[in-house]
Amino acid sequence: MRSVSIFGATGSIGESAFDLLMQSGGPETWRVVALSGGRNIARLAEMARGLRAEIAVTAYPELAEDLEAALAGSGISSAAGPQAIVEAAEMDADWTLSAIVGAAGLPPGLRVLERGGTLALANKESLVAAGRLVMGTASRNNARILPVDSEHSAIFQSIGSDNLENIESVTITASGGAFRDWPLEKLAEATVEQASTHPNWAMGQRITIDSASMFNKSLEIIETQEFFRISPEKIRVLIHPESIIHAMVTHCDGGSIAHLGAPDMRHAIGYALHWPERVELPVPKLDLAALGSLTFRAPDETRWPALRLAREVMQVGGAAGAVLNGAKEQALDDFLAGRIRFTDMSAAVEFALDDLTSDRSFSTSPADLATVLDWDQRARQSAAAWAAGNRGR
Ligand code: NDP
Ligand code: MG
Repeated sequence: MRSVSIFGATGSIGESAFDLLMQSGGPETWRVVALSGGRNIARLAEMARGLRAEIAVTAYPELAEDLEAALAGSGISSAAGPQAIVEAAEMDADWTLSAIVGAAGLPPGLRVLERGGTLALANKESLVAAGRLVMGTASRNNARILPVDSEHSAIFQSIGSDNLENIESVTITASGGAFRDWPLEKLAEATVEQASTHPNWAMGQRITIDSASMFNKSLEIIETQEFFRISPEKIRVLIHPESIIHAMVTHCDGGSIAHLGAPDMRHAIGYALHWPERVELPVPKLDLAALGSLTFRAPDETRWPALRLAREVMQVGGAAGAVLNGAKEQALDDFLAGRIRFTDMSAAVEFALDDLTSDRSFSTSPADLATVLDWDQRARQSAAAWAAGNRGR
């Protein structure tokens, strides 16, 4: 029986993974080691009971008793707090899904790699904030990372056994998010509610807003560079409103291999779960005749400054990824709390990047978790300072 753990089980990716496990036999097929969640204790306990997990962990110490009560009589252990999540990541599981949102996903993911485990990575923030550290930890410990982000799963599947040197470019697609067709001058007034609806994908609120601001694609460009070791000038972004082609690899001979599929994350999660096998998945099949046409356009960096910032970050390297990610998380918190406008998010991130470049160690890639988290904190402070200075404009 294969054993699995899911970190971020109660989120959008976690729910899709839960669905895949339950539809393929649940606890009769899988030995579920650990499930983690945040505030949604009722759902975490329900999932742990459904999959007969060994342990359920909430990120919040103040919810420890609630979780224990929700699991009473089940025989399932419970624990609480970020350190308890890292300890659960130490428990042996054949396959672990990293689906916590934000930099909080980095410590447990690293711990899985340190014990030489297989990490299915939805948490792109880990690679943006600490690409060198994450990839280095994986290779030192003979651990494996399988991409779960749909574009990266698509690249992974399109590259196959090809030699990286034969790749001329890699194109990741973007739907364009909620404001693809909005007049530019209206963007500053966009509300949280408007930014929280995605044309094609059902996802957590944070990544949905990141899709509208294109910070999600900005993170994904960096994720592509870090994971596949593809140089920045070979990474392209293409606006593709239908979200059917997820990525395309173009070879030196002029041919391209693209990966197509319905916008349903259960494909990428299921592919990683069963890799290297392919199995039938409960995912809608594509009907191209019904779709009729697929459309494409070039991305507009005036509308989405986040794309330019990703290029700058890749050029600088060092701690720039950690700063971009931390500042972006803070700017998103500030937007969600009504402290800054939608278009201010990229301004706050750009400010943090400029603000921290002068630090002598900025050009050095963080070599350990403490250094990554230190940059993350400083980036958040810098972005928050920008927001405080610009409030009420
Ligand atoms: P959600 O917001 O839906 O879920 C996030 C999960 O993380 C929940 O289980 C939540 O718990 C938990 N969580 C929140 N904060 C913390 C914290 N500080 N410490 C520990 N756990 C926490 O996110 P998504 O599922 O949308 O995204 C998860 C990751 O996958 C992100 O990195 C995202 O970029 C990536 N991804 C998502 C895609 C999607 O389709 N959703 C597609 C590609 C990548 P609770 O809800 O109980 O509070
Ligand atoms: Mg994606």
